[in-house]
Amino acid sequence: MKLTIIGYWGAYPEQGSATSCFLLEKEGFSCLIDCGSGALSRLPSFTQIMELDAVILSHYHHDHIADIGVLQYSWLVQNSIHQTSQILPIYGHAEDQEAFQKLTHQFTKGIAYDPNQKLRVGPFELTFLKTNHPVPCYAMRITDGQHKIVYTADTSYMDGLIPFSKGADLLLTECSFYEDQDGTNAGHLNSKQCAEIAKRAEVNEMILSHHPHFGDRRQLIHQSMKYFDGPVLLAEEGLVWQSY
Ligand SMILES: [Zn+2]
Ligand SMILES: [Zn+2]
Repeated sequence: MKLTIIGYWGAYPEQGSATSCFLLEKEGFSCLIDCGSGALSRLPSFTQIMELDAVILSHYHHDHIADIGVLQYSWLVQNSIHQTSQILPIYGHAEDQEAFQKLTHQFTKGIAYDPNQKLRVGPFELTFLKTNHPVPCYAMRITDGQHKIVYTADTSYMDGLIPFSKGADLLLTECSFYEDQDGTNAGHLNSKQCAEIAKRAEVNEMILSHHPHFGDRRQLIHQSMKYFDGPVLLAEEGLVWQSY
């Protein structure tokens, strides 16, 4: 499976970039994990919008869903231009009914996932874990039957992430703060905590995403590498991770 970083900022996008959005592909099937602000303008560099087969959302904070509305408009316009009626499934949890209902539009269909059940989407099987965050939010373990990616979504440190991430080929983790900062009250991780999860879960590789808008972000890498021996990458647009 192939993961491409589309957006990697927390909170809001800096000029010419996007907040959390990841393109996951395998054997012609492609889906978005989260769809943050700016995602729709960055995505055409990597795929056609109408080529998407599904969208899966971790939670309903703006930096993860801001472009769902314009994604719905793009499907409306493109279906009209091509005289088609393709429907895009958008998976989200149903714990916030008002937000969940908005996933359904003329050519998109909101589908509630049950976080206690496995979810099959195309060639992928997903398992969920509720995170520590101010609103209901789910980390995802995604497998194609051979390899395993764990996406922490937004969360403060929790021990449950370690068994959940155990042995993952890739840990795609939020990293909102530097190691000397405590993100617990905000519901976020710092660089040291990301590394500790990666180390204890014995993952192969880690990508740090959901970046802060302050400080020198390269320090996130240096700080993580003090505590985790494996490769650490800083998310950037177009960064590709591929399983072999
Ligand atoms: Zn966020
Ligand atoms: Zn959030």
